[in-house]
Amino acid sequence: MLKEDLGKLNIAEINQALLAKQFSVKEMTASFLQAIDQSKLNAFISINDQAIAQAEEADKNLAQAKDNVLFGIPLAVKDIILVKDLKATAGSQMLKNYIAPYTATAVKRLQDKGMIVLGKTNCDEFAMGASNEHSYFGPVLNPHNQTRVSGGSSGGSAAAVAASLATVALGSDTGGSIRQPAAFCGISGLKPSYGRVSRYGSIAMASSLDQIGPMAKNIKDLAYLLQAMAGVDKLDATTSHKAVPNYLENLKVKNPRDLVIGVPKEYFSDKIDIEIKQAIEEKIKFLADNGFAIKEVSLPNTEYALAVYYLLMPAEVSSNLARFDGLLYGISAAEDLSLDQWYKTVRSTGFSEESKRRIMLGTYILSAGYYDAYYKQAQKVRTLIKEDFVKVFQEVDVLLTPATPTPAFELGAKVNDPLQMYLADIFTVAANVAGICGLSMPIAKTQNNLPIGLQLLAAPYYEEKLFVLGNFIENNK
Ligand code: GLN
Repeated sequence: MLKEDLGKLNIAEINQALLAKQFSVKEMTASFLQAIDQSKLNAFISINDQAIAQAEEADKNLAQAKDNVLFGIPLAVKDIILVKDLKATAGSQMLKNYIAPYTATAVKRLQDKGMIVLGKTNCDEFAMGASNEHSYFGPVLNPHNQTRVSGGSSGGSAAAVAASLATVALGSDTGGSIRQPAAFCGISGLKPSYGRVSRYGSIAMASSLDQIGPMAKNIKDLAYLLQAMAGVDKLDATTSHKAVPNYLENLKVKNPRDLVIGVPKEYFSDKIDIEIKQAIEEKIKFLADNGFAIKEVSLPNTEYALAVYYLLMPAEVSSNLARFDGLLYGISAAEDLSLDQWYKTVRSTGFSEESKRRIMLGTYILSAGYYDAYYKQAQKVRTLIKEDFVKVFQEVDVLLTPATPTPAFELGAKVNDPLQMYLADIFTVAANVAGICGLSMPIAKTQNNLPIGLQLLAAPYYEEKLFVLGNFIENNK
């Protein structure tokens, strides 16, 4: 097999090729590392210098690949997720020299299966952004058009998978940061239900919204990764004790047509790009023509989801980022400064404008006198948004919506206009606010050859429904 084709293989194909000795884990790892080295996309912040040694070790134990499909598979990890002894910068100057002292549970579970971490991917600072332009390490270019953004904040992971620099990747999603860049780069990405995957070892952005999730070129690969990562973790008290279903078995045996699809009318306003709207509507028609039950539904409080998110998220951000004071974590300042000057120096130089904006907003929202008006009120509306979903999921199994209102936009187009940037997440944030699961997958391209993403949403812990329907859509075009 030609080395250049390696990047196009999915997990099962690599597994078969490894077992057939078409190439070794070491050859494969080296070939991916070379591709990363030659890439101009800026998708990676750092490389795992132990990757080749780990691959050599894997080759000695190749027999394990027989009943373990993840064995030896190359993985890229968003730089907000800790991998022991590798840098974890969170895309920030504040942590540019920080070396992770332990490994996140999600990564650990994949490494235990024999996956090889190739390196750490670029992201918006502390996962805050929708274009990857808020990274201290510069923007990630979209592999489909290098004048466009990759999306954010997991833009490095999305671009790495799309450009075949890694077979699969991990991202984190607080308001859309897996699904939106996946849609912009033409790959699939899953935000698991809140509590499905441990957050231990993920640098916190907004703890009640964050989830780690997989990104891949196809639905089945997402299922393989979730299968290995999901489940209770005693190191994260918010992980669910609910049993993890056998996702792969479900993909084989479940009939996708048993799933009732809901189309929420609030997601189809005139503000959506016309080509995206048409592509999604065509897909709905295709599913209806193919025997699926489709119902129009309403989520009346969804229009408040973005506002609620931009109150609760900064409140949590301001408290999570308080630890970056140059003493516990972060860059240092000159030793002869007073405490006050020290704080000012460290926090004004270490954080980008976007982080400062959110810390200030969050501090304001939580301050005495404004807490009731903003934070408490937002929590109440959060409950209403959740209740909308609970109601709708009594009627339908999966909601089908666009993933983003526009395709990947030009670099620089929104970076100086925070409100426009925040609107990029209009279709994705509600899932985080409500704690439900969501998946985005590519379904078409615009006339300019930019990917168009579809979003599927399901009730908490029903990721299997997303996989079953997503797999049908992927395989029936
Ligand atoms: N783009 C959103 C934001 O800027 C979402 C970020 C995320 O999901 N991590 O907050």
